[in-house]
Amino acid sequence: MTIDINKIRHDFLILSEKIYGKSLVYFDNAATSQTPTQVTDVMLEYYNKYNSNIHRGVHYLSNKSTEGAENARIKVQKFINAEHSHEVIFTRGTTESVNLVANSFGECYISEGDEVLVSEMEHHSNIVPWQMLCQRKKAILKVLPFNDNGELMLEKLPELITDRTKILAVNHISNALGTTNPIKEIIDFAHSKNVPVLIDAAQSVQHKKIDVQALDADFLVFSGHKLYGPTGIGVLYGKEKYLNEMPPWQGGGEMIQEVTFEKTTYNELPFKFEAGTPNYIAEIGLGAAIDYVEAIGLDVIDAYEQELLDYATEKFQAIPNMKIYGTAKHKSSLISFLVEGIHFYDMGMLLDQMGIAVRTGTHCAEPVMTHFGIEGTVRASFAFYNTKEEIDVLIAGIEKVCKMFGAKTV
Ligand code: PMP
Repeated sequence: MTIDINKIRHDFLILSEKIYGKSLVYFDNAATSQTPTQVTDVMLEYYNKYNSNIHRGVHYLSNKSTEGAENARIKVQKFINAEHSHEVIFTRGTTESVNLVANSFGECYISEGDEVLVSEMEHHSNIVPWQMLCQRKKAILKVLPFNDNGELMLEKLPELITDRTKILAVNHISNALGTTNPIKEIIDFAHSKNVPVLIDAAQSVQHKKIDVQALDADFLVFSGHKLYGPTGIGVLYGKEKYLNEMPPWQGGGEMIQEVTFEKTTYNELPFKFEAGTPNYIAEIGLGAAIDYVEAIGLDVIDAYEQELLDYATEKFQAIPNMKIYGTAKHKSSLISFLVEGIHFYDMGMLLDQMGIAVRTGTHCAEPVMTHFGIEGTVRASFAFYNTKEEIDVLIAGIEKVCKMFGAKTV
């Protein structure tokens, strides 16, 4: 099966928008991907026909909303092949999912002198919650470095994992470099030392088929808005054995079983971790986004995006004074770059004037920038609705900016 690009692009209304009178070229998919009408229509339908708070009602509307939200949980379960649907916790996004684990798992399993291992290429969302936990518990944060190609130095794992290591948190795909990390190998090694692993899949669920059971991941987190779904919704997958032992993180709403002023008993999974009214219409939207992606097929999506990446990389390499950050053998469809002598903000702002949306700055991964001794990069990230023609527009745009700055491009 191949991508029917014209049909797909019709599903994403925003792709036909004009920016400053020019056709939009959207290459900021790693920050937020666009949402097809199949998702927005479902959400609108729920707002217009079935909206009512879930779990607490006996009436028709509440039951319809509850059914929609719980079906969405089952869609997520199947999407990542979790053993049980109650291992899927809905959160606001990747960041909240990591914070939940850092707080709750941290409360349960981490004491003074224990160690938490993260990698040097993590997004701040997979660093700061662990750092806060370590400060609170007087634990130690250790870092697995990467080499100058942007590949994790797995040979350092044996010395970094000690009998005090309580958890390893690592991304599947780096949002700043595009590196696809060998997470199965990492999980297997960590497990051989009895260390559980959290996988930040914020940049991978939209590109790669994930099977949490085959990976044997202990926790896996991602966001809806990078998976062609709505904002404000994300997922924490956790193995039942950990989630059962972990204490609730926030109190209130559906997470209780019984409340008295003396004592509260907590609800069972997954509700124990879902305090307050959940973003149930976004949950339903996320379910629709999963349906959409699965109808195309992640294998088809991945193959097409790799084609875009190869095409773009070759064109980028032909631009004089171009440096690509992140040249790992296994890479996802994004290119982080700088042209010598041109500040990333100037490049980003001038491309914007041409209708081309790219991201500039640290990409919330300051340690990656520190590694290379730079302050930021320009990042172009591609989705399955992008085309080679759009990449040509980007390349022409970069060459134009280079000319404006007098860089030797032609
Ligand atoms: N981890 C990675 C690898 C990311 O790319 C992002 C988003 N840029 C996050 C975590 C945080 O995701 P969110 O802002 O949706 O919580």
